[in-house]
Amino acid sequence: MPVICWFRRDLRLTDHRALYAAAEASAGAVIPVFILDDAILHDGYVGAALTAVTLAMLEALNHDLQQLGSRLIVRHGQPLAELQRLVSETHASGVYWNRDYLPYAIKRDTAVKQWLREQGLQAHSFHDSVLVEPEGLKTKTEQKPYLVYGSYVKRWSELAYHQAEQLVPAPSKLVAPPSDLASLPIPALADLGFDLQQTIPQVGEALAQQRLAQFFDRRRELSVLKYAEAREVPAEAGTSQLSVDLRMGTISIRQCLKQAVDLLTEPLTAEQRQGVDTWIKELAWRDYYTQLIYHNPHMLNGSLDPRYDQIEWRNDPTEFAAWQQGQTGYPIVDAGQRQLNQMAWMHNRVRMISASFLIKDLLIDWRWGERYFMRKLCDADITANNGGWQWAAGSSGPSAQPYFRIFNPIAQSKKHDPHGQYIRRFVPELANVPDRYIHEPWTMPPALQAHLGCVIGRDYPAPIVDHGLARERALNAYRTALQTS
Ligand code: FAD
Repeated sequence: MPVICWFRRDLRLTDHRALYAAAEASAGAVIPVFILDDAILHDGYVGAALTAVTLAMLEALNHDLQQLGSRLIVRHGQPLAELQRLVSETHASGVYWNRDYLPYAIKRDTAVKQWLREQGLQAHSFHDSVLVEPEGLKTKTEQKPYLVYGSYVKRWSELAYHQAEQLVPAPSKLVAPPSDLASLPIPALADLGFDLQQTIPQVGEALAQQRLAQFFDRRRELSVLKYAEAREVPAEAGTSQLSVDLRMGTISIRQCLKQAVDLLTEPLTAEQRQGVDTWIKELAWRDYYTQLIYHNPHMLNGSLDPRYDQIEWRNDPTEFAAWQQGQTGYPIVDAGQRQLNQMAWMHNRVRMISASFLIKDLLIDWRWGERYFMRKLCDADITANNGGWQWAAGSSGPSAQPYFRIFNPIAQSKKHDPHGQYIRRFVPELANVPDRYIHEPWTMPPALQAHLGCVIGRDYPAPIVDHGLARERALNAYRTALQTS
């Protein structure tokens, strides 16, 4: 009897646990299906960039399935209803899928599982998209979920490394769905009501494999071996750029970790070893935030620590628009926002600086920024994004940046982009400004501004806030909130 493999955020064939199990279990067809779910597409969170990369990944997946003699069946609608229809059309004996840990997904998948069981059909779900599942790691003494990243990561490694030894191959061939089984064409972005104004990366399993191989290529100047330092330099491509692939699963997280663990068995210098170790710890942040939200779903709408919901935000719409457009007058923030608006991606260090600026310098509710990032990022991921924003806001408990440690955007800029290469790339108005003034162009003497054709207030905005004053204002707002709650 045929079985259905329901693809969701795992758009690949290699090390895909549900697909592997479905192919092993069925002597008949494996029906690979992807359902475009309106509840996700139009939830106000998902933006054009993530939707566009998803559609491109579906094209690539369909192509890869065709190489195995199969094809992707695409449906559009409510997942349970679409699966019911598909089961009745194919007489499938069961459905296989990889687990997702967000509240909406859990509710959806529980309903599917319940219906399948009521029909006497099989429902098989698999641990796939994270290294350690949220229920898989609790504190030793009290069996409670972890709140502190430092303690979490210590025990995470053991379990995660074990997973890295459990890879499964891509099926070498698949029995195709019946030729008369209907599939919708993969829609164009505009058909789904999205308008893309950004450049997005090329995607698909083959490209994800290429990115991983490049990042682990020791001959390259900026491989994982240099990651510990290079990851702090936004002007350099010192990070893996795999977030879009990990978001929609065109690469397996186990394969990423395995690559790193295998490298650690080779003779490395202390610096190189640190590069690999630091990268592994970033993969752990991904699991950490997944379990944090799984156990604390209220974080999706408010602060993990509810005292931070008492902050009196200023929420000035004009300042918010200036931040969105990269017109704050702080070059490093503006460069980051423009990178996001152009490339649907922003370097991690600058995400931290820009988020901190919105929250602390402009005193705008972190949820406004979180939503904007969700709509603009091609790697937009509810857990990593929410986690990143609450980290910057200081509202996610002991692993967050403490609220009183406020990033100084000028000092951050000088440290991480000393010669302004990153700034100049995304803020061309400042291209000719000397290094000395690049981080604070408003301090340029007026004659120099005129000479360079970069008059502050005319060619590039004057700073929309004074950082020193804004810092005091933020500290007061935070202290007041914490005292009154
Ligand atoms: P690398 O440095 O090569 O890291 C490897 C992988 O580890 C990443 O691809 C990602 O999957 C994971 N990772 C790295 N850092 C983190 C982190 N802090 N939290 C969780 N996972 C991490 N990441 C997203 O994938 N989607 C988001 O929507 C997102 N929003 C963010 C918002 C803010 C305010 C901040 C501060 C961070 C956010 N991050 C998000 C985390 C991080 O910025 C990106 O994962 C990283 O920049 C992606 O680039 P890379 O693939 O080259 O990462």
